[in-house]
Amino acid sequence: MLRKKLIAGNWKMNKTPADGAALAAELVTAAGKQTDVEVVVCPPFTALDAVGKALDGSTIKLGAQNLHPEASGAFTGEVSAPMLRALFTTHVIIGHSERRSLFGDTDAFVNLKVLAALKNQLKPILCVGESLAEREAGTTLKVVQTQLEAGLQGVSKEQAATLVVAYEPVWAIGTGKVATTDQAQEVHAYIRGLLTKLFTEPVAQRVRILYGGSMKPANAPELLAQKDIDGGLIGGAALEARSFLDL
Ligand code: PEP
Repeated sequence: MLRKKLIAGNWKMNKTPADGAALAAELVTAAGKQTDVEVVVCPPFTALDAVGKALDGSTIKLGAQNLHPEASGAFTGEVSAPMLRALFTTHVIIGHSERRSLFGDTDAFVNLKVLAALKNQLKPILCVGESLAEREAGTTLKVVQTQLEAGLQGVSKEQAATLVVAYEPVWAIGTGKVATTDQAQEVHAYIRGLLTKLFTEPVAQRVRILYGGSMKPANAPELLAQKDIDGGLIGGAALEARSFLDL
């Protein structure tokens, strides 16, 4: 198959280094050798080192939840791509709706982060998605197009092949309300079409497009069976080994 499924856990602001390492160790014991599905866990910055050590030697990869576009300097509280690379991080979530709504990440800033990640061989997991008001106003596809095109400005065809996009309808994140398979597939296919226009068909066929928003073991099989849904970005269900492993 062209695209291997990818399941990424976004731990958000949860887990101390010790708690994170314990969860990672459970995941490694149960799934640390399998290669059918690509698995990434994204702990908070403070747990990256401990979790990375627990994952060492397994097939499970380490991701961060954010980065600053500059490599170093006077940016109090921020963490750069080279710093993440030094901890053996391979992926980074960029433009999560919580960053956009709570911390003011604009499309332009998201774009700088994507470019910084790619320049440092980190695979961006670029999040896009509409709010409930935007869905009700019928502007879902327009919103997704704007976020995607702005977020990917200046990205080359070669770089785009390593990209992961996560479609996360904001109204489905942490709410228990999951998008229907038709709603999700429609937007995923639309995103693949946009990627085709931006980067050509063969590149667009390689990009994994994840669904995110209250994905759980119970609703995952139907979503993951859709043609353009290549995996999941998982919040709540990634915090416990059992539900994450079931996914
Ligand atoms: C997320 O925040 O990326 C997410 C999908 O959260 P949840 O699974 O809890 O809805």
